[in-house]
Amino acid sequence: MTVGVSYPTFRLVGMDQLPVLDPPMPQAVEHLGFEPELAAAWEHQAAARKAEAAKLTALLDYTDRVVAECRTEGGIPDQEAVRAAHLEASQLLGVSDMTAGVILDAAGFARNHLPATWQAFHTGLIDLPRLRKIVDAGCELDDHVLAIVDAAAAEQAAARSTSDFAHWLARYIAKTDFEAYERLTRTTRTRRHVQFAHLPNGMSIVSAFLPTIEAAAIEKRLKIITRRHHSAAKDTAAKDTAAAGAQQGSAGSWSREHGAGAGECGRPGQAGESPTLAQREADLFSAWLRTNPTDESTPVEAKIMIMIPETTLTGETNEPAISADRSWALDADQARALAGDPDAEHNWYEGITRPRAGDADVDVLTVTYSGRYPPQRLREAIIFRDGRCQTQGCTVAAERCDLDHQIPWDSGGTTQAKNLWALCRRHHRLKSHGHLHPPPRGDTETSPSRPPVIDLWLPTHTFPLIT
Ligand SMILES: [Zn+2]
Repeated sequence: MTVGVSYPTFRLVGMDQLPVLDPPMPQAVEHLGFEPELAAAWEHQAAARKAEAAKLTALLDYTDRVVAECRTEGGIPDQEAVRAAHLEASQLLGVSDMTAGVILDAAGFARNHLPATWQAFHTGLIDLPRLRKIVDAGCELDDHVLAIVDAAAAEQAAARSTSDFAHWLARYIAKTDFEAYERLTRTTRTRRHVQFAHLPNGMSIVSAFLPTIEAAAIEKRLKIITRRHHSAAKDTAAKDTAAAGAQQGSAGSWSREHGAGAGECGRPGQAGESPTLAQREADLFSAWLRTNPTDESTPVEAKIMIMIPETTLTGETNEPAISADRSWALDADQARALAGDPDAEHNWYEGITRPRAGDADVDVLTVTYSGRYPPQRLREAIIFRDGRCQTQGCTVAAERCDLDHQIPWDSGGTTQAKNLWALCRRHHRLKSHGHLHPPPRGDTETSPSRPPVIDLWLPTHTFPLIT
């Protein structure tokens, strides 16, 4: 099947016959408009941006209406009404409600305070990432500076690449209002954080949002030490090769590694080969974080909760292990190595999967406890059962969630697995305000908002951070 693209028919004007495009291309790339395919691509890009602007405007209007209605009804704080609207918007957009909130807050700020930027977004001249950069910087500025920055940024954003624009914006604000720039950097520093993203290929990305001065120091230290190790390894390899070469009467071949540098990042090294410089940097970085002593007075228990099929443990099959929050998998060899690690302290649970929750045997998930708070054992079983926050689309691991009584304890709800569910703090609060409802009781495994595998009672691993 081929997919056709329609090329706009242009009205040609003037001696140089530049096509009239809506919106017009920025001057720097205007010459590209002579190529009909590129002109068409520009128009399609603009159309997508306009559609995005219209979509966000509709969601902002919806949020405003929900807030107004909640005010009329009374009793619900504006902030909670906004969160409830963002939750619904997130389901429509297919992102977490946190992400939807960030996007809609930025769009709302632009609509209210950045008329030039908002206009450029609606005419298709700039996209959402650029708009967000202007908002991020703009929300720290005084009104009179904001108006100057808004006008200039809307124009520059259309003409520059995303990263070039970000650097230009920082320079422009620093030049226009140095105090505002200082305030901006100070506020941005309060947003420092570390993020972990587990990918489906057995690898993860660890990212840290840090003050540049600290990141630059880490970078320098990492690069100096890695290069030292790398040179030492090359020297050793060269000596070994020279010795072997002298024996065999042939030239050394260590040069295979000679060209390995940062530019080779991402090129997989073959098993048995010396690590490339990029691989060494990653290894050292990981080792620093995993093995350096912390200043905690009590030992740090870094507990990793994973589910390993029994047949994988025995070696009959090679099914991968899965983390309790279902966000990453571990291949069978690594899972067996972890299970057999003599330095690790293991807590084993037996897990049974059942097609229907109603067929439960007697296990920790069927016991009713007399207190309000679930004991650790039940808590862990629910972490395995639920995996993550039970709100549709939310990916907060159950380990970091509250265990909420679906029927509140004060209203006669019991402390047992079928009345408890994992809810992150944000969604727990939404439920308390009546904006989030538990799934229908009974066949919970058929509800799309829950992971399909439930009633698990499975192994956990505990191993010390420092080994
Ligand atoms: Zn949640």
